[in-house]
Amino acid sequence: MDFYPVAIEKLIEEFAKLPGIGYKTAQRLALYVLNLPKDEVDEFANALIKARGTIKYCSVCGNFTDSDPCAICSNPSRDRELICVVEEPKDIMAIEKVREYNGVYHVLHGVISPMSGKGPDSIRLRELVTRTKNNIKEIIVATNPNVDGEATAMYISKLLKPLGVKVTRIAHGIPVGGELEYADEVTLSKALEGRKEI
Ligand SMILES: [Zn+2]
Repeated sequence: MDFYPVAIEKLIEEFAKLPGIGYKTAQRLALYVLNLPKDEVDEFANALIKARGTIKYCSVCGNFTDSDPCAICSNPSRDRELICVVEEPKDIMAIEKVREYNGVYHVLHGVISPMSGKGPDSIRLRELVTRTKNNIKEIIVATNPNVDGEATAMYISKLLKPLGVKVTRIAHGIPVGGELEYADEVTLSKALEGRKEI
């Protein structure tokens, strides 16, 4: 494809690497960027570089943060004996929006998925076991209500129960096969409220 100058082709290629972006959309985004004032483009590029350069994972919960431990883990008014286990940092954003949960989190960074060859060692379970040994009274498993999410919840329950901790699963207000990220705030609030021991 030598229709565009090399620099534009390169820009399109980079946009096309993003999830959910096909060549046509990438092309549209690239041409849009080229029409922006230069200072706006600089701001955009700098935001990318700054985010990538300063954001890391919290060493306690695995959430995105610019300081370690993160704002949630270091907040003295949060209940540290209550841990909500989620698949990805974006799930924390979803639960935080509800403003009802006052415990802390544990991000697994994935789920156990035999179909895609992901076993228990590929997610942050060892870290969860270590944290659970530290005076935790309840672990709420808030993995997504799909096959992998449920299997992971059962695995976590079997793994942690021998440690004497209460393990609960969020209620099924969230449609089966759905994702936390897309659940509305009322549904999510009910799901947390109606959690059951597993
Ligand atoms: Zn944290």
